[in-house]
Amino acid sequence: IQILICGDTGCESSGSDKVLDALRQQIEEKKLEKEVTIIRTGCQGLCSMGPVMTVCPGGAFYTQIKVKDVPEIVEEHILKGNVVKRLLYHEMQMDDGILPLKNTGFFKKQYAIALRNCGVINPEDIKEYIGTGGYLALGKVLTEMSPDDVIQTLLDSGLRGRGGAGFPTGNKWKFAKANAADQKFVCCNADEGDPGAFMDRAVLEGDPHVVLEAMAIAGYTIGSSQGYIYVRTEYPTAVKKLNLAIDEAREMGLLGKNIMGTGFDFDIELRLGSGAFVCGEETALMRSIEGERGEPRPRPPFPAVKGLFDKPTILNNVETMSNIPQIILNGPEWFSSIGTEKSKGTKVFALGGKITNTGLIEVPMGTTLRDIVEEIGGGVPNGKKFKAAQTGGPSGGCIPAEHADTPIDYDNLVAIGSMMGSGGFIVMDEDTCMVDISKFFLQFMVDESCGKCTPCRVGTRRLYEMLDSITKGEATLEDLEKMEKLCMDIKSNSLCGLGQTAPNPVISTLRYFRDEYIAHVVDKK
Ligand code: SF4
Repeated sequence: IQILICGDTGCESSGSDKVLDALRQQIEEKKLEKEVTIIRTGCQGLCSMGPVMTVCPGGAFYTQIKVKDVPEIVEEHILKGNVVKRLLYHEMQMDDGILPLKNTGFFKKQYAIALRNCGVINPEDIKEYIGTGGYLALGKVLTEMSPDDVIQTLLDSGLRGRGGAGFPTGNKWKFAKANAADQKFVCCNADEGDPGAFMDRAVLEGDPHVVLEAMAIAGYTIGSSQGYIYVRTEYPTAVKKLNLAIDEAREMGLLGKNIMGTGFDFDIELRLGSGAFVCGEETALMRSIEGERGEPRPRPPFPAVKGLFDKPTILNNVETMSNIPQIILNGPEWFSSIGTEKSKGTKVFALGGKITNTGLIEVPMGTTLRDIVEEIGGGVPNGKKFKAAQTGGPSGGCIPAEHADTPIDYDNLVAIGSMMGSGGFIVMDEDTCMVDISKFFLQFMVDESCGKCTPCRVGTRRLYEMLDSITKGEATLEDLEKMEKLCMDIKSNSLCGLGQTAPNPVISTLRYFRDEYIAHVVDKK
């Protein structure tokens, strides 16, 4: 019998460690150590139901477990083979047995590529990663494929960067490979700073080796021997697991000198961010790794030409990396068969806000907003109506309910005034004031502006003051027009993506919820 208990930060915060201790104690007291294996996994998805555990065989998924529930689980399920119905996830409960978890509303439209090992393996044991096919892709690349083969595979797969901009990953690697240099670098952006986003943290905590493996593949492809993972210091569990994974991979000859005896050298170091949102921007991130103040710089030159320490560099985010070993193993046709015409594969979202099932999801590109909110998310609680969803983090946009049937992909989201971003997905109900929402996101951008350029440093602050005067009932219709003009000025004149996208929540809420702004203004005419 295997008991998979979630040890992700989400479940940990609701007491999973105490449940784990109680479970270990019970198993010891009942002398069941030989029959039962306890595996502390990463995120199992349904974060709002934590602490959660899955008991195999059978796949009973228990939710909101308390320490006092543990003796009953051991006595009834482990010893007598009876599922404890009162703790079973409510959607699995049927009169004549249990509905498989994969057939429940939360899971049935999901498709796991990036999250395939999260919630399944012990992320602190490299053997479990290897047991699911881990490091096979690196072996295949090193022994059977040329760097150009890898690039062509990525190009054929259609993989686009999951960090926000959606640039084709194969092209990024191709440009970096084409630039000759004595040293090149592979960077992984794990500086997940969007409010409400926890996709990267879940991968790092639940399956850290997939990132290491993908980075080594990238190193071989572009001709680099050194990688850096830039991870936020607010993720201590992810940092601990990454350090452990790097040590394990080095011990097994999967990182370091002469990997798998092929003569290929590649190693990885961590660099900790210190909470600046702008350090998620690629040029600022590289400055920060260099030990300088994390400020963006103009492009060109692009990092593929002159990046970290002025050497050719690629930067991919955690989710992009975690797709790569599966693309190598299963082939580009498999990956490109999933998703929409221009957005292939899947997307991970951190589902939050006014939604029943808060959690981590991975869906094929092209899944509609309605499917995510109503089926996977279980709808808006307390009988309220779905009003809008914010995708793309603080610099994304609010998508109103009228676009609920739009298939979600990079291009469709832009067409309706939002963006994919890294994967934050915040649901709002009919009680949410959209002016307050845009003010909340803009406040975040004001705080996080690095101050290097005036349109962003001063413009976002002025914009915030205008929004503030609207919410206080002190603004006029004319002020609304001035505000719209300021949004466009900030967008077109800011140096980096932070400033260029900062007004997006204001622009999108003005586009779809203008009546709410008008309801706040004073007509002085
Ligand atoms: Fe800094 Fe904002 Fe200018 Fe970017 S746009 S460089 S964050 S001030």
